[in-house]
Amino acid sequence: MQIKDLFSKKKYATIPSGSASAPERPKRDIPEGLMNKCSKCGNIQYSKELDKNLKVCSSCGHHYRLSAWERIGMTLDDGRLHEYDADMVSIDPLEFPGYAGKLKQQYEKNPNLNEAVVTGEGMIGGFPIVVCVMSFDFFSGSMGSVVGEKITRAIETAHAKQLPLLIFSTSGGARMQESILSLMQMAKTSAALSKFQGAGGLFISVFTDPTMGGVSASFASLGDYNLAEPGALVGFAGRIVIEQTIRQKLPDNFQTAEFNMQHGQLDMVVHRKDMKHTLTKLLDMHIVREDLSHAE
Ligand SMILES: [Zn+2]
Repeated sequence: MQIKDLFSKKKYATIPSGSASAPERPKRDIPEGLMNKCSKCGNIQYSKELDKNLKVCSSCGHHYRLSAWERIGMTLDDGRLHEYDADMVSIDPLEFPGYAGKLKQQYEKNPNLNEAVVTGEGMIGGFPIVVCVMSFDFFSGSMGSVVGEKITRAIETAHAKQLPLLIFSTSGGARMQESILSLMQMAKTSAALSKFQGAGGLFISVFTDPTMGGVSASFASLGDYNLAEPGALVGFAGRIVIEQTIRQKLPDNFQTAEFNMQHGQLDMVVHRKDMKHTLTKLLDMHIVREDLSHAE
């Protein structure tokens, strides 16, 4: 007899099926927000440790989603932003059923945000820059009139001040409650970028998880450099829609940053810990230092 046979057939315990008959165990009292469980690998990490690690899972490298202000804190020198158009808020131009109520919920959920994008001016690695940072927390980062208008104004300010432009995107797509007014933001932002880039302006676009629909199909894909965070979902239509349309199974890594990089849609996939350094290097390559010394 082998040792493993000693254990194979013997029943040591019976676990009653159904939770109703299972003995109640005292639940461990973990204060909310103290621990985080990685959605990719299940690794449990202290929130403080996770924050120190720039919200990247220490076990599998999964990049957690960031709010706009978290990203600004990590990216800009001293985390400082001179914000543009902070008080611009959406109205309900089409009186779309339920929209006003949903907007109200978003304000309550996000006390630091008035819309799905924060725009302004700051410094990265000592270089002055105009930045737009989207937040998935607010209405799934959807682009309505205000998101489009704030981004367009930021592009125009970068143009007028001859500053480089950086946009961190994350979005579920156009905001359907604003219908065509939302879709026209794609053309508006793209037209402003075309003028800016035509005049020699530098635009660095960073895709973060997820960037889909009208945002990926407009300004986010128009960078002179298109970067992405590892694992970020980047695409237009969702996987299921495409599979049903073309009647083919798509690869597991379809629409990830790495897949898009392999297929020539991105220039670089950059780990969050290297993002600021990479941005600084790109700015250093493009900004003429004489211009800076005049500015100082
Ligand atoms: Zn993980």
